[in-house]
Amino acid sequence: MPIDPQYYREIIMDNYSYPRHKDLKEDKDYLNRHMASDSCIDDITVQAKIKDGKVEDVRFDGEACTISTASTSILTEMVEGKSVEEARKIIDNYFKMIHGEPYDKDLIDQAIVFEGVAKQPNRIGCATIGWRALEEMLDENDQKTASAEDKQEESR
Ligand code: ZN
Repeated sequence: MPIDPQYYREIIMDNYSYPRHKDLKEDKDYLNRHMASDSCIDDITVQAKIKDGKVEDVRFDGEACTISTASTSILTEMVEGKSVEEARKIIDNYFKMIHGEPYDKDLIDQAIVFEGVAKQPNRIGCATIGWRALEEMLDENDQKTASAEDKQEESR
């Protein structure tokens, strides 16, 4: 991908105008997280379907600014079909970039368009809102998996 601010801007606007996976499912197989920002209009719900250690689907809906819509839209595409472990690596790496720390360019993919957010601290919340929601759901899924394993142990 060329390093060109104009091109980055186009990708952000495309994901804002045509957000991917922007509608919620009535399906109990999905985990849900509602996230709201104190400093922006962002008020979104993110859903994740995690099955057999794999992120099958991530969706979102709600009111959101350009940065939060585009960053969550790009997230849904980046983690689809990835293992929970891979998704965590992608999220951790993204947070490093957003906080201006060294990060792995091979793992950043389209999210590179938010590289500049590191220099705009007031937009960090917008650029990470959907990503934090997914991270929390990965944690919730891990806890569920662990307690299901405990139950199996007990019944043995
Ligand atoms: Zn925002």
